[in-house]
Amino acid sequence: PPIVERTVVRGDPGPDAPSRRDPVLEARNLTRSFGPIKGLDDVSLSVGRGEVVVVLGPSGSGKSTLLRALNWIEPADSGDVLLAGESLPWADAARRIARPEHMLDKRRRRLGMVFQSFALFPTMTARQNVALGPRRLLGIPKTQALAAADRLLDKVGLKDKLHSYPVELSGGQRQRVAIARALSMKPDAVLFDEPTSALDPESVGGVLGVMADLAGQGLTMVIVTHEIGFARRIADRIAYMERGRLLMDLPRDQAFGDDAPDYFRAFLSREG
Ligand code: ADP
Ligand code: MG
Repeated sequence: PPIVERTVVRGDPGPDAPSRRDPVLEARNLTRSFGPIKGLDDVSLSVGRGEVVVVLGPSGSGKSTLLRALNWIEPADSGDVLLAGESLPWADAARRIARPEHMLDKRRRRLGMVFQSFALFPTMTARQNVALGPRRLLGIPKTQALAAADRLLDKVGLKDKLHSYPVELSGGQRQRVAIARALSMKPDAVLFDEPTSALDPESVGGVLGVMADLAGQGLTMVIVTHEIGFARRIADRIAYMERGRLLMDLPRDQAFGDDAPDYFRAFLSREG
């Protein structure tokens, strides 16, 4: 097997980089084991406000485990996650118990998550799905929540599908509802885990187009994807993982430039 470098290749983001000036989301030394397998091996990553970080890596390299740890869906064994500078230590059970679940929920709401397979409520229309979180979790009155949902659905190009049920929508349209739903909570950042991997080829472009629009509007995003061309167009930074380790974290132009590390160039040529 290839020798995995122990040092992370990091580009100097400069003193004015968003990740330094105004970090929204920070992973510090996250580690997670599944028996003998290291899902995450000392991973640190800082995401600045308005930054788009694309996480690339082969299947099984720990990308989903990282997003789940960032969102506290599945805590890391050790390490720390900071959201807008506030730490939520997971390091041991005692500290975990010291953080009541309702506090966790509150923090989690500030991070949107979009998964490969979208779990919309089948008995609710698109606008009802999007309005649900704000109504239930933020206590926004129904009329106001539905009006906000309509605006968000317009933003993701579904103005004419407000009253459609999930079964009446294509995969790409459902995924755009899921994005609107994530945005409905006014999150500090949205994490995307292979949002287009389960879609028909003809649906992929629309979803990526919406994500590019959101990036252009300054949404803070962490995106796991295999769409290299898309990453190249919209990422501010590229992070690369292998075997649970974050090996590279470079500004986009450096990552796709001639001086990028060999293992990353090899990955790119494999991915096509
Ligand atoms: P990726 O998203 O990059 O494909 P994952 O984060 O899903 O990778 O997985 C990283 C590694 O951790 C893989 O070897 C995977 O098999 C393992 N893994 C992830 N989740 C679990 C789990 N719940 N139980 C056991 N092993 C897991
Ligand atoms: Mg995954």
